[in-house]
Amino acid sequence: MSQQLTLALSKGRIFEETMPLLQAAGITVTEDPETSRKLILPTNDPDVRVIIVRASDVPTYVQYGAADFGVAGKDVLLEHGGEGLYQPIDLNIAKCRMSVAVPTGFDYASAVRQGARLRVATKYVETARQHFASKGVHVDLIKLYGSMELAPLVGLSDAIVDLVSTGSTLRANHLLEVEHIMEISSRLVVNQAALKIKRERLRPILEAFENASKGR
Ligand code: ATP
Ligand code: MG
Repeated sequence: MSQQLTLALSKGRIFEETMPLLQAAGITVTEDPETSRKLILPTNDPDVRVIIVRASDVPTYVQYGAADFGVAGKDVLLEHGGEGLYQPIDLNIAKCRMSVAVPTGFDYASAVRQGARLRVATKYVETARQHFASKGVHVDLIKLYGSMELAPLVGLSDAIVDLVSTGSTLRANHLLEVEHIMEISSRLVVNQAALKIKRERLRPILEAFENASKGR
């Protein structure tokens, strides 16, 4: 019996870094999402297709079974909550860290010591809420959808919680990383029902992903 498999990916780094893992499973995507307008991409395997969605939408497509599996950052998975998702493999791709950053002139440590109420702008409100709660720091969280670095520069917030890789964006905006919240990498997520119903079809792909990501 042939079983269709649908893999959810986002454009950019996740798509690019997932390609070698798919390759290890013998699967090649035959169109480039950067130049194609298609949102459903074929592969060399007639039973496997890739759908292109926003990074933060990957868990939702997989949760509801519109995709059987997908690749999503730990940042995105923590905000989503992981409901309905089996998360078997850390793929060790799209690595970065989640951090607190403030303008270079702002004394974060002493603000925290004095128990000041901080305004924090972030896309990652759930993770930020948990982080500051665990430290006993009082915060007002301001939800943004991008360009968090701008917020403290124009007085929207005292601090930001954002992803950092090289730190060059922070430096270019006179921001300083003052607290490391967690390491981030991308995970394979699988729909729980698909894992049971399509186990035989999924198994070799999951194994190939696991072996290929171990060496990273
Ligand atoms: P969108 O561009 O649709 O708003 P996004 O910015 O979350 O979404 P990407 O920039 O493609 O989309 O990021 C996808 C994932 O890659 C993130 O969820 C995160 O796990 C990881 N990531 C984000 N920024 C970096 C970075 N600078 N270096 C390495 N990995 C990163
Ligand atoms: Mg981005």
